[in-house]
Amino acid sequence: MNIENEKSLTAFNTFGIAAVAAKLVTITDINSAREALEFCNKTNLQSLILGGGSNILFTKNPESLILLNRLRGIEIVGKDGPDRVLVKAAAGETWHEFVQYCIRNNWGGLENLSLIPGMVGASPMQNIGAYGVEIKDVFHSLEALSLENGNLKTFNSKECNFGYRESVFKNTEKNKWLISSVTFSLSAQNHQLHLDYGAIRTELEKAGIAKPEIADVSNAVISIRKSKLPDPAEIGNAGSFFKNPVVEISVAETIKSKYPELVSYPVNEHEVKLAAGWLIEKAGWKGYREGDAGVHKNQALVLVNYGNAGGNEILNLSTRIINDISDKFGVVLEREVNII
Ligand SMILES: Cc1cc2nc3c(=O)[nH]c(=O)nc-3n(C[C@H](O)[C@H](O)[C@H](O)COP(=O)(O)OP(=O)(O)OC[C@H]3O[C@@H](n4cnc5c(N)ncnc54)[C@H](O)[C@@H]3O)c2cc1C
Repeated sequence: MNIENEKSLTAFNTFGIAAVAAKLVTITDINSAREALEFCNKTNLQSLILGGGSNILFTKNPESLILLNRLRGIEIVGKDGPDRVLVKAAAGETWHEFVQYCIRNNWGGLENLSLIPGMVGASPMQNIGAYGVEIKDVFHSLEALSLENGNLKTFNSKECNFGYRESVFKNTEKNKWLISSVTFSLSAQNHQLHLDYGAIRTELEKAGIAKPEIADVSNAVISIRKSKLPDPAEIGNAGSFFKNPVVEISVAETIKSKYPELVSYPVNEHEVKLAAGWLIEKAGWKGYREGDAGVHKNQALVLVNYGNAGGNEILNLSTRIINDISDKFGVVLEREVNII
């Protein structure tokens, strides 16, 4: 086991925060993960799993042993009915490359999730979603290594308890598991395309595609995302910093009486989902900058690091936004990004 000391994490988080890990070990197989866990137990160190660092904000130099997940491998592990294949991907596969691999093999279901940064292993953590699809829609199971005893356990969808940007791994099972692989149930034929969200149809029309294939949907999503979201290679960010809040219908009605243009989506009989970006923009934060921490000029939901912001500056900015939105609209925003 090769432990690196005082390792800079700047290149390992998309915010580009200049945190330094006291100790870091790269995990390339289950045995190296178990070895690292034994080391933690012996030395009384906590462990912290890092994938692509695209949903994390370092507000301090982590003292835990960082387990940099680089488990690789993709295989078909079976069929799931006549039209579907079960595809298992190791947790350290890059998400977007895995999605593209599936599309090349004509396995459908993940195309709307194209270009989401990060790795396969983090995808169930917050049930990643985009353009009308969440991974729970095609999730079959996952394998995870207990951080306590190194045993492997399989979780099915029910056990993961997926919700909107939620799973058991962000709640009751937080910091207890290293997700080592995820198995997806993907269509091998008769693909069900999801075209009704955002500008997918418009994008396909623009490209003159009347009968889209899964690759066309992926290309449309990629093109929309590129035009809308800041590229972390150009400006540090972790995508949406806040979740879209789910509120009682009466709360939305009160806001609507003042702002008739309020955007809301039905959730159930009693609740609606509001667009956090709309609230933040309406409150005047879009494009706000303080030092090197700021709110993106085109996407109010995205907080950015213009260069040398510390994690705490971004965190403080997010707290000010939460307080302001609460004062102005009576809605409490929740952070989506994991704060370390
Ligand atoms: C530009 C941009 C756009 C984005 N768009 C979207 C979007 O459309 N939809 C969406 O849902 N998300 C989006 N995100 C957020 C992010 O890409 C996803 O949440 C992604 O799944 C995070 O993967 P990661 O490997 O980078 O996780 P990390 O940031 O490395 O880790 C995130 C959390 O998961 C834990 N973790 C990571 N890997 C494992 C593992 N193998 N086992 C156990 N715990 C683990 C970490 O400890 C941490 O708490 C976006 C981010 C950016 C920068």
